[in-house]
Amino acid sequence: MGALEETPRRLGNGQSRCPYCGLPQDRVATLEYDWVMLEPDMAPLAHTVPAEHRWIELSDGRVTVYGVCPPEQSQRCRIEHRLACPAQPLPDLWPWLTALRGENARQAERDDPEPPPLSEQWPDAG
Ligand SMILES: [Zn+2]
Repeated sequence: MGALEETPRRLGNGQSRCPYCGLPQDRVATLEYDWVMLEPDMAPLAHTVPAEHRWIELSDGRVTVYGVCPPEQSQRCRIEHRLACPAQPLPDLWPWLTALRGENARQAERDDPEPPPLSEQWPDAG
């Protein structure tokens, strides 16, 4: 006894349990009159989060995607729980990198990466 009891999370009041991992997540209204499940107690710097995944809180408590580019250096944001959920696959955070990897994979297949013989790599200097 005496152990600090975890302050009862506001479950039922803005929070709910993730159906995948069972951890609490914040249920927050968006500007689009929709809901988004955000990771509780987590406010990383906006520029460390891919643009489409930055949620910022507005004065009325609702959140919206923070599309300012480049983001304000000190701007904090919220992230969706699904990005941090251990029981869900990570979504494609950097679609252009994924596209580039796909493109490079095709190119690598085309190019047949057999290295040229040493003699071609190092022509005689004399
Ligand atoms: Zn989860």
